[in-house]
Amino acid sequence: MSGNTQQLVLLGSGAREHALATKLRQDGATVHVLPGNAGIPGSVPGISATDFPAIQGFCKEHGVKLIVVGPEAPLAAGVADYFLETDIRVFGPRRQAATLESSKVWSKEFMRRHGIATARAWSYRSDQFAEAQTQAEELDGQVVVKYDGLAAGKGVYVCSSIAEATAALAELRELHEGWFSFLLEEKLTGPEVSLIGLTDGVSIQLLAPAQDHKQLLANDEGPNTGGMGAYCPVPFLDDNWLAAIRADIIDPTLRGLQAEPFDFLGFLYFGVMLTPSGPKLLEYNVRLGDPEAEVILPALESSLLELIEATLDGNLAQTITRQRPGAFVGVVLASGGYPAAQFPTGFPIHGIGNQGQGTQVFVGGVKPGQQPGELLTNGGRVAVVVSHGPDLPTAVQLAYAEAELVYFQDKYVRPDIGQRPAPLLETSAY
Ligand code: AMP
Repeated sequence: MSGNTQQLVLLGSGAREHALATKLRQDGATVHVLPGNAGIPGSVPGISATDFPAIQGFCKEHGVKLIVVGPEAPLAAGVADYFLETDIRVFGPRRQAATLESSKVWSKEFMRRHGIATARAWSYRSDQFAEAQTQAEELDGQVVVKYDGLAAGKGVYVCSSIAEATAALAELRELHEGWFSFLLEEKLTGPEVSLIGLTDGVSIQLLAPAQDHKQLLANDEGPNTGGMGAYCPVPFLDDNWLAAIRADIIDPTLRGLQAEPFDFLGFLYFGVMLTPSGPKLLEYNVRLGDPEAEVILPALESSLLELIEATLDGNLAQTITRQRPGAFVGVVLASGGYPAAQFPTGFPIHGIGNQGQGTQVFVGGVKPGQQPGELLTNGGRVAVVVSHGPDLPTAVQLAYAEAELVYFQDKYVRPDIGQRPAPLLETSAY
């Protein structure tokens, strides 16, 4: 049963949603993006992604029966719960299941309950800083401190000494008022991969494994950002690692989702570290990663619309997901000064629309200019230039050549996306 799902509403406003809208249109859907942005066709700027009554009114008016959710905020605000009693289906988990992402403590307890491979961790309340300090000292400061809640990327401190751990705990205490919880985790080492699938909580269809580049500067230096680029697939993630990730992380997660008193439906993201003692889960996200989505959606050969419908209809196990051959690289064009709290924006963007075959540009932090079709910068991550090549080095070269052709004042591009040296991984080590 597919219903009238050719018309759909997509919630969100970033480059990830531009990539989603592009893919869903290629699959045959008419896509309304709420609120979208000035560079995404079909955007409806007047309706915010968390204004559920207005979204419902829009769906009624346009005969829309399917809502696909891009970012986390509408999920955490309960968009799937809101539409439960209506004839509009939502592709995304309900609020309680979204806690897998929004609470690090709850998520870690879920991992523990279901035997999912992850770092050892201790959870504390805001009146237990002394205990946390003692534990951090016992681990010689090799810890990660995580605030329990959505902290817009500011909630995780990776420490390498007792002094750093002490400072992280002090900052956490200073930043957050009132009662809160936090986690102390043992620090793991190894390369990270992003695995994202569509799941109905019983089976899962994985999309191409990807790697993102969170730090601002080359060689993973500088401050953390929302992501400066990504690529897929990941050459060093061989069948042995994939099998271990399935057995130690994904399969127990699915068993756990079935055992818990909530249903899960939507995209599920596994942030995995490949450590010397096997793969370990760092975190779940209950949505597509950004900028991973901008490479894994162009890499998906199968119809995303059909995959979404199969998930909603409970037919996911019977579907096959095919990826396009070759490599996909996405390079973020950022505003100079990002990720500081303030930096200049409002500069005209030139050169979008001139891309050659094999390249797409997805826009995020933009706003309309005075002239028809003109776009101005309006945020930190302005656009992502995504190129396809027969192999990773060719795709990297093309993405950087195309990124040169999009211009705005103060443009910053991290220079080494998709060029990390291959890690030395001993798959036989565990
Ligand atoms: P999270 O939001 O929990 O994924 O943490 C954000 C980032 O912090 C991850 O992508 C890792 O780079 C790092 N991180 C988180 N947990 C650990 C850990 N246990 N050991 C080392 N690095 C970690």
